[in-house]
Amino acid sequence: MSVRQLFVTTALPYANGNFHIGHIMEYIQADIWVRAQRMQGHQVYFVGADDAHGAPIMIAAEKVGKTPQQFVADIAQGRQQYLDGFHVAFDNWHSTDGPENHALAKEIFLELQKEGLITTKTIEQFFDPEKSMFLPDRFIKGECPKCGSQDQYGDSCENCGAVYSPTELKNPRSTLSGATPVLKTSEHYFFKLSDPKCLAFLQTWTQDGKLQSEVANKVREWLTPDEEGKSGLGDWDISRDAPYFGIEIPNAPGKYFYVWLDAPIGYLASLKNYFDKGGPKARGDARSFEQYMNDEKVEQYHFIGKDITYFHTLFWPATLHFSHRKTPNNVFVHGFITVSGEKMSKSRGTGIDPLKFLSLGMNPEWMRYYIAAKLNAKVEDIDFNPEDFVARVNADLIGKFINIASRSAGFISKRFEGKMGHLSEEGAALVQHLQQSAGHIATSFEQREFGKVLRDIMLLADRVNEYVDAHKPWELAKHADQAAQLHQVCSACIESFRLLSLYLKPVLPALVREVEGFLQVAPMDFASAQTILGQGHEIGVYKHLMQRVDPLMMDKLFEAPEATSASVPAPAAPAHQGAGDPGGTAIEGVIGIEDFSKVDLRIALITHCESVPGSTKLLRLELDVGEEKTRQVFSGIAAHYKPEDLIGKLTVMVANLAPRKMKFGASEGMVLAASHGNEKEHPGVFVLSPWPGAQAGMRIR
Ligand SMILES: [Zn+2]
Repeated sequence: MSVRQLFVTTALPYANGNFHIGHIMEYIQADIWVRAQRMQGHQVYFVGADDAHGAPIMIAAEKVGKTPQQFVADIAQGRQQYLDGFHVAFDNWHSTDGPENHALAKEIFLELQKEGLITTKTIEQFFDPEKSMFLPDRFIKGECPKCGSQDQYGDSCENCGAVYSPTELKNPRSTLSGATPVLKTSEHYFFKLSDPKCLAFLQTWTQDGKLQSEVANKVREWLTPDEEGKSGLGDWDISRDAPYFGIEIPNAPGKYFYVWLDAPIGYLASLKNYFDKGGPKARGDARSFEQYMNDEKVEQYHFIGKDITYFHTLFWPATLHFSHRKTPNNVFVHGFITVSGEKMSKSRGTGIDPLKFLSLGMNPEWMRYYIAAKLNAKVEDIDFNPEDFVARVNADLIGKFINIASRSAGFISKRFEGKMGHLSEEGAALVQHLQQSAGHIATSFEQREFGKVLRDIMLLADRVNEYVDAHKPWELAKHADQAAQLHQVCSACIESFRLLSLYLKPVLPALVREVEGFLQVAPMDFASAQTILGQGHEIGVYKHLMQRVDPLMMDKLFEAPEATSASVPAPAAPAHQGAGDPGGTAIEGVIGIEDFSKVDLRIALITHCESVPGSTKLLRLELDVGEEKTRQVFSGIAAHYKPEDLIGKLTVMVANLAPRKMKFGASEGMVLAASHGNEKEHPGVFVLSPWPGAQAGMRIR
């Protein structure tokens, strides 16, 4: 089998908010696919980035008094906790505002210009007379010109998927001021998608069978000329006027690329950044980014949601093709996630907050398993149903899979010194049956039929459980003369459990890492499905691998946000205090709740931190406690923390402490930290940090 080289991305999230469950679903889908490819020996580079540009970010940053760069950096700081939390392992995460993207976007534009595909036109554009600025598409709302849906944005319709220009909207209004926008002229740059060579290329690229059939059909509608013979594809407006947060168009002062031109180029920029940082080199790939992208054998795949199909199946391949670059081998489109049948809204999110899920101590692999069970290769919406979630995790994952190990491993440890025995004919046949499924399970993963994969694996688990029930190891264990059979039966169970774990590994990477530890085997891949542990192999002591979902947790997950308090579990009080104890002094006299509540403790996000010239003790922190402006606080922790270690972290501050004038400026609060009662002998200052899920501004009570 030849080793495939895969370049894989997910859609780039817009950097104006935290991840919602829809993002997490897409990342889990792509991550499972990537892991399954790697388990077949293929080489994969899997990258993401923040989509940083555009008017909405510029306007949001202005509102909170930050530069767009700082605004985006603050959002980016929050990404990793979600990705790590759900075991989503991108090789690189970058930003479309990185220097690589600026350079690549300009290069690509100049190449398109050389191809004769860039033109300028003077257009009339909506201008907000109250705000004195051209209105970005997203800040105009009205009725969709195609389907008549109310309350649609100026660039595309969430209901029918149509993409149009804001001037086509019916009854437009500015969402910034509410004013009815007026038309004003401006010169814009266009990508000539209506050029016959573009149309010819897209006809082939979109209709050659690679795309999902629903996607290919939709694209065919878009490409079909209307009754007047006008091409379905208009030229694409790719410029915006200053003020705009984006990439300046070469030789066009005051003109910027529309965010949708440079956003997908961010896929390449993130990969280039990964190459330039030496990521592939560390994995034995000495090529440069350019050499890699020019290698015809490299395959390029993008996982995206159905709402951005238009951009990814028309604009993006045309941009790449006519700038003489590799075009995607495929674009994998998924549907939306609904919660209990309710459609999620981009602005409101859904009833499931991914960080809340984690902070409740819910196992992220429950989510990975459940989402995988719902996914297939079609562009279908999937529904998160709480009862179904509990049933699938408890009945299938725990009841059918984990139980195989918990019913057999103990006997191997206690009765047979942890050593595997030889298999009976029946046991060997069972194991062989499981091994024979490796091929079609790998194929289903490749085809993104994850729901089918899990159904097939659960059918195999059923077979194993039938075997367990037929031989009843717990009965065999009661009779000393049946030790040999007990050993055979439990060995067949453990061999089967290893294979099921191997097949589930792309979905449950952390759990299966533990299984590998318990079985004392090297990391498993699909090739190792054809081996067995074998007689004499020693396994470790079984510890329970996964808890069941407590339905009460689901209730908490769906509780309204007001009902969750930000309280931090109180540490157990030490039994006594003395000079050698960390506390040093006795506990202070008792106060009432009224006294305590006078102290306004808030969760604070450290948005910035720097050393203070002329002071070895102090660091200057900027803290976001959910107010319009950040606070400045000086804290005597310079000997213990580097500024870069604190930026982006959450901590706890006294928010209503009277401001204090210091040599270096005013300190507008106090950050909480712990230290030993005898600081000389036990140096160290420990800044407090809340459990995951807390948000800047939450009150501590
Ligand atoms: Zn519509």
